[in-house]
Amino acid sequence: MIFARTSSADQTKALAASLAELARPGDLILLAGDLGAGKTAFTQGYGAALGVDDLITSPTFTLVNTYEGRLELNHLDVYRLEAMGEVLDLGVPEMLDDGGVTVIEWGDAVAPALPADYLEIRFTFIETDPTGATDDVRILELVPVGPRWSARIRAVATAVAPWVHEPTAEETGNR
Ligand code: ADP
Ligand code: MG
Repeated sequence: MIFARTSSADQTKALAASLAELARPGDLILLAGDLGAGKTAFTQGYGAALGVDDLITSPTFTLVNTYEGRLELNHLDVYRLEAMGEVLDLGVPEMLDDGGVTVIEWGDAVAPALPADYLEIRFTFIETDPTGATDDVRILELVPVGPRWSARIRAVATAVAPWVHEPTAEETGNR
């Protein structure tokens, strides 16, 4: 796995844009992490780099938002409990066969039911110091699962190199 650190939403978007350079039809990216951790910000940077002009927002009430870009971007969010079952009914494997790329917020929750071939990115806040100076810092842990991403792990490491950072004990707390 690879650890990266960003200290603003723009940095998270830039990291995502850099990863989007590696995008291939059928790619699946699962985003894990609490509310406000930066999953949607990541998707916005990722989509912009794929040439999506539309504003990317969380698909809270629609299950999936599809955007036109260099590659089609399917954006799902399974935060709502009911959405989980709906996502499973949706046929993610068929969606992946359609030639686009798919990003699922809270995707870790449905991972066992998905093809075991994805990049998981776990977003965490770091322990906040009393001055609040670390409020905008996020640690991103990138975990390749399955052949598609294991084969590209060096390219992934290169793409996120500007942000690579081994988290310190202070940053991970007692996680
Ligand atoms: P999620 O989709 O995980 O619930 P969002 O991307 O919607 O989170 O929101 C993240 C919020 O945190 C935004 O208001 C964003 O501006 C802010 N933020 C601050 N620092 C960062 C960072 N390093 N990465 C991403 N977002 C950040
Ligand atoms: Mg979100």
